Amino acid sequence: ENTAESHVFEADVARLLHMMVHSVYSDKDVFLRELISNAADACEKLRYEAIAEPALLANDPDSRILLTLDADGNKLVVEDNGIGMSRDELIEALGTIARSGTRAFMERIEANKQGEGAQLIGQFGVGFYSCFMVADRVDVASRRAGAEEAWLWSSDGKGGYSVAPIDVAEAPARGTRITLHLMDDAKSYASRWTVERIVKEQSGHVPVPIKIVEAPGAEPTQLTDGTALWTKSKNDITSEEYTDFYRGVSGQYDEPALTVHFRAEGRHEYSALAFVPGSQPFDLSDPDRKGRMKLYVKRVFITDEAELLPRYLRFVRGLVDTNDLPLNVSREMIQESAILSAIRKGVTNRIITAIEKLAESDQDAFLKLWENFGSLIKEGLYEDFERRTQLLALSRFRTTASGDGYRSLADYVKDAKEGQQSIYYLVGGSLDQLKASPQLEGFRARGIEVLLLTDSVDSFWVTNAPEFEGKSFKSITQGSADLAQFKKLDEDKAESASAPAEVQAFIDFAREKLADEVSDVRASDRLIESAVCLVASEQGYDRQLEKILQGAGR
Ligand code: ADP
Ligand code: MG
Repeated sequence: ENTAESHVFEADVARLLHMMVHSVYSDKDVFLRELISNAADACEKLRYEAIAEPALLANDPDSRILLTLDADGNKLVVEDNGIGMSRDELIEALGTIARSGTRAFMERIEANKQGEGAQLIGQFGVGFYSCFMVADRVDVASRRAGAEEAWLWSSDGKGGYSVAPIDVAEAPARGTRITLHLMDDAKSYASRWTVERIVKEQSGHVPVPIKIVEAPGAEPTQLTDGTALWTKSKNDITSEEYTDFYRGVSGQYDEPALTVHFRAEGRHEYSALAFVPGSQPFDLSDPDRKGRMKLYVKRVFITDEAELLPRYLRFVRGLVDTNDLPLNVSREMIQESAILSAIRKGVTNRIITAIEKLAESDQDAFLKLWENFGSLIKEGLYEDFERRTQLLALSRFRTTASGDGYRSLADYVKDAKEGQQSIYYLVGGSLDQLKASPQLEGFRARGIEVLLLTDSVDSFWVTNAPEFEGKSFKSITQGSADLAQFKKLDEDKAESASAPAEVQAFIDFAREKLADEVSDVRASDRLIESAVCLVASEQGYDRQLEKILQGAGR
């Protein structure tokens, strides 16, 4: 009797699969990394559940991932002895898309047909479906740890899939066996040479040992030993190994911009391995602003929701492993743990220090990091009171003097005019728009540098920024500019200080005509070429912040 139930894929899955097969041409190798990463996750989930329920491990306590090649049958099998999936879990996990960013992912791939698609898969929680790039049928036999029954999920990756109960003898004793029926042009994925190369390149540091069986029935040999990289000493780790590990935790395929690896000893004992990505991850604009650092306790993965870093460092990827917490630590304990807040502080300091060092040792690398993540780091200027000054010193800006480069506040202060009390800034939507602003004319004419701020966070931190080296921040669109005390660079253009009679007559006229629109009309030394500009009053909001608040309906 055949009890297979047929299901159709959720619309987004169908669309994604179509795209996987037709648009994501380059680098099909990534499918194996994605399946191995899922297998390792499943082993970690089992270890975690087994803390409360040791019986789940039964007589097979050691995690492993097994790759079986069948060149004659054109098959590649990826098997793990992890947590496994029940019927409902199979349907939920392999028929729908959990992550909210999927639409954005698909739009990005559609916009950029052959390029980066495959590189983005891992970041989107859609890794499993990538196996349809190389297989025209995929069978997933799974038995959840502790369950009496086993299930088979099967699909050709087109319209839908089937789910059927199977004899437990046809499934792993525990965990999941994924059989890929390889397409004709993907036969090489059943060859040892190819599979071994991909595993070494992309999955060498998965914390579960990977074994390979060269043909059905052959003896397994070990490809990787599954030691946790972060437990090794720094001197024993090559930069290729770090990169490989980074790619695993981040789901990105670039090189890390910064690697921070240390072991803290003394009052709290923990290891941390963290990376600043070499390019922007996809979830930075996620409104939850969640971090992605993983918490391990004694080598067991516990959660990636422990918020181990402040929100403004949410671009950092990596993990913390501590011996100081109990394995059965609960979510509530995590939130209130004094140990974790000490760890949070320690890791944050080390990461910021590493960024500072990069700024000193390698300008170009630092500026690239700043271009990717500066707008996030600046959130710390109003969120991290303790480190405000430190973060201000780290910040880089476009200014009227920066050209195509960046200036630090230290540069700004060093070149400030004699008697200049303020750090002047102008906030707006785009650099071109700011550079064309008539508000700048008087400052340019006097050679006074103005910060040009275009990130949306800029409107917020400037309102309560502390002084920097004794100088306060001042918007040039707000209040009087007090420029008379500074000499113009080009004295030929100098005019008399007081407004001539015609100008005064015009001012009187404008005051009267605009009485309902503006609070005052004044002659100003801000302007050189332009006739008029709008400014905010000394007490009111800066003009850009005013616009943002109006936009937000306040
Ligand atoms: P992600 O791994 O980011 O969640 P995937 O598309 O790679 O996204 O996998 C989707 C889901 O399928 C996983 O979250 C997991 O619940 C389930 N899954 C995939 N492979 C396995 C496996 N080998 N063992 C157990 N569950 C798995
Ligand atoms: Mg995955």
